[in-house]
Amino acid sequence: MPRPILATVHLGALRHNLDRLQRAAPDSRLWAVVKANAYGHGLERVFPALRAADGFALLDLAEAERLRALDWRGPILLLEGCFEARDLELCSRLNLWHVVHCEEQIDWLAAHKTHQPHRVFLKMNSGMNRLGFRPAALRAAWARLNALPQVEEISLITHFSDADSPRFGADGIAHQLEAFAAATRDLPGERSLCNSAATLRHAGRALGSGQLAADWVRGGIALYGSAPDHPEHRSADWELQPAMTLASRLIAVQQVEAGESVGYGSTFVAPAAMRIGIVACGYADGYPRHAGSGTPVLVRGMRSRLVGRVSMDMLAVELGPAEADGPPCRIGDEVVLWGRSQHGSLLPVDEVAQAAGTIAYELLCAVAARVPFAIDEAEAAAGLA
Ligand SMILES: *Cc1c(COP(=O)(O)O)cnc(C)c1O
Repeated sequence: MPRPILATVHLGALRHNLDRLQRAAPDSRLWAVVKANAYGHGLERVFPALRAADGFALLDLAEAERLRALDWRGPILLLEGCFEARDLELCSRLNLWHVVHCEEQIDWLAAHKTHQPHRVFLKMNSGMNRLGFRPAALRAAWARLNALPQVEEISLITHFSDADSPRFGADGIAHQLEAFAAATRDLPGERSLCNSAATLRHAGRALGSGQLAADWVRGGIALYGSAPDHPEHRSADWELQPAMTLASRLIAVQQVEAGESVGYGSTFVAPAAMRIGIVACGYADGYPRHAGSGTPVLVRGMRSRLVGRVSMDMLAVELGPAEADGPPCRIGDEVVLWGRSQHGSLLPVDEVAQAAGTIAYELLCAVAARVPFAIDEAEAAAGLA
């Protein structure tokens, strides 16, 4: 028998979350952001559930090729554009739309020979200071692109640094929103500003005579069922459902006495006699080693907690809460690290991430190659959020 750990991708939840984001920005088109192998879920696995999106956004050219191999003929946007001049050949061949965020990318375009002019998304640095042209340089970049026969259409794009939290005054986005609106006021073209957090929290805000959601929103983490602004909101508050379950099983049960410790470094000492389950899941599976005692887990669907240090292939959990309601736990009993239990209960990945001092994005992307995946084709349960 293989080691019992399993990651399951829930296609019904992906469809539900896609619909939820579309309802948050009903007048906009939606890029399903599938970078990093669809946030660790697997591009080929999520594709059937997300093909109702208006386009796919990613940044690895190999992933763009995989999408075309799935026979996706619609828009694909490279969020970081090209990394070197010859990437433009693939853009022409696969009809990829690409971000242009620096002068070098315009130089490459100007030297590129293509029969098919490109659609580009000119990126403005509105305050995040990662990629893009500063407001004062935007107009000149736009004019350069506009003069190129290699360019067919110019759209405008920017990215928020703080859409998930109230910072810089009231809401975290006002300063960037103002900078973008001012610098692009009289430039034509479609616009895209919102990630998941901005879409859920701010989509209806004013942008010029339109709305912040604009022509395209870019939904990433919310598609996968995590609340982008956890813990201010939980995934259930946004009516999102977990798209991934990481589950395993008990491989041993220990009775420990008061004063005995569990695991490496003896970081957990039992305050009283207790039953401990050993789970086939460790940091070599992508479970965060920084998750300390107290991190939530579901044992047979009942909420319990991790005890002691996570080791490479195993972790330990308290069995008391599951046994309070049922027979003693046994080898083979289900333990959910995050996602949905077969017993119906949910453990949001956001809570596990918070306990480990990180964010759900990192946990979802980090599930290790040795973990087998399954696909759950069932429709999302009505009312289950
Ligand atoms: C990753 C990414 C997104 C999606 O962000 P989420 O927070 O996952 O919704 C949107 N836009 C850009 C430019 C990105 O890199």
